[in-house]
Amino acid sequence: MPPAHPFDDDKLKEECGIFGVLGVKDAANFVALGLHALQHRGQEAGGIVTHDPEQGFNSARRFGYVRDTFTSQSVMETLPGPLGIGHVRYSTAGSKGNTQIRDVQPFFGEFSMGGAAIAHNGNITNANALRRELIERGSIFQSSSDSECIIHLMARSLQKGIPERMEDALRRVEGAFSVVAMTRTKLIGVRDPRGVRPLVLGKLGDGWVLSSETCALDIIGAEFIREIEPGEMVVITENKGVESSYPFRRQKSRFCIFEHVYFSRPDSILGGRSVYETREAIGRELAKEAPVEADLVCPVPDSGTPAAVGFAAESGIPFGLGIVRNQYMGRTFIEPSEQIRNMGVRLKLNVNRALIRDKRVILVDDSVVRGTTSRKIKEMILDAGAAEVHFRIASPPTAWPCFYGVDTPQREKLLAATMSEEEMRDHLKVDSLKFISLDGLYRAVGVADGRNNASPQYCDACFSGEYPVEPADMIEQGFRMKAAE
Ligand code: SF4
Repeated sequence: MPPAHPFDDDKLKEECGIFGVLGVKDAANFVALGLHALQHRGQEAGGIVTHDPEQGFNSARRFGYVRDTFTSQSVMETLPGPLGIGHVRYSTAGSKGNTQIRDVQPFFGEFSMGGAAIAHNGNITNANALRRELIERGSIFQSSSDSECIIHLMARSLQKGIPERMEDALRRVEGAFSVVAMTRTKLIGVRDPRGVRPLVLGKLGDGWVLSSETCALDIIGAEFIREIEPGEMVVITENKGVESSYPFRRQKSRFCIFEHVYFSRPDSILGGRSVYETREAIGRELAKEAPVEADLVCPVPDSGTPAAVGFAAESGIPFGLGIVRNQYMGRTFIEPSEQIRNMGVRLKLNVNRALIRDKRVILVDDSVVRGTTSRKIKEMILDAGAAEVHFRIASPPTAWPCFYGVDTPQREKLLAATMSEEEMRDHLKVDSLKFISLDGLYRAVGVADGRNNASPQYCDACFSGEYPVEPADMIEQGFRMKAAE
């Protein structure tokens, strides 16, 4: 298993990526390619389950990158069949940072009417209570993952079919879930009633595809058909194609706004618009809200780049790659020892001195989490001879943890949870620091009137502290909601 990246502990960690294909020869090859395109959503481990009419269900779970694990013939030839699903994981629940192979999805259950495998992206906020209840009633858990609850709830359902059992199970589940599942003949996709995490439908020849993001459809040459709607379940078979239903109580959609800012790949389409375009719009909005006189707009690579392009275009200040990323800094290159951690950012990023010297530099980054990386980057820019350093951040201050499938540090570790904007500026020792406003972010993602404070259009809990689903497990463990402060 690759060690945690020594420099990425100052970013929110993407959740998981899910992918499924029905009706193509050697589905596992397409699933592996899809998971490879979704690798940014989880790098710890991956798994694939397939079904073949003659050889039944088969599965493989591996630690590490898809490109290193699901490319060898010896693994891929164990996964025959025209139907398969897969999952890439960064552990947001279960054995965090110490993943066991038993925690790697997809999970599989054998029911009286046949087998089923599921891959889950998101986080179940009442998993502890469900787990206790299920164990008391005789369930034997194999993993520490919250997602396994879904399989046990399905096992206890009295419904006759697997899709109906899944509906039953998911009605008991609170929080965020996008699920891709399969039976012997069906590919199933579901999004929670608020649609917190993404899921899209694609077409590949006569076959069908479900994926966390559209970038994974592109890699296999599949056509993007549409997003699965919040609260929608699609059951796809070779004979009947896509059958859609809405089995949950209707809720207002609350898609994760941070997918637009950072998690999704810039070449994906979200809400009918390219993620790159949205990030550029965020940069433009930021330039309008927080202008500053300077000589150079410089992105913190790579995730700050589209917003920096937008900032430069709006402000008229030249754009330049003042920081260059070492593309070949693999995660497995070094162990994250204390000494290496102290070298930190310098191993991953280098300053383009000729561009920076004597310039007033605007650094554009997607977010500030702990602030440790921002501080080191600022030092590198000043060491290179910059005259001034101004930070512009393409998201509002991250002051609250996410409980919906994103790994965030404890609240007290978030810089914005304990400091005002001015205190953060002092702490980072920069000439100025400005974050985009929540309203500005909403405008940039396409909501012309900004945030509806009475009924927000997105989940923005990590900025606002207003959680669309009460995080029951965390409250039980002592987390205090905003209203309780
Ligand atoms: S809390 Fe933040 S990261 Fe989590 S789902 Fe909501 S917007 Fe996304």
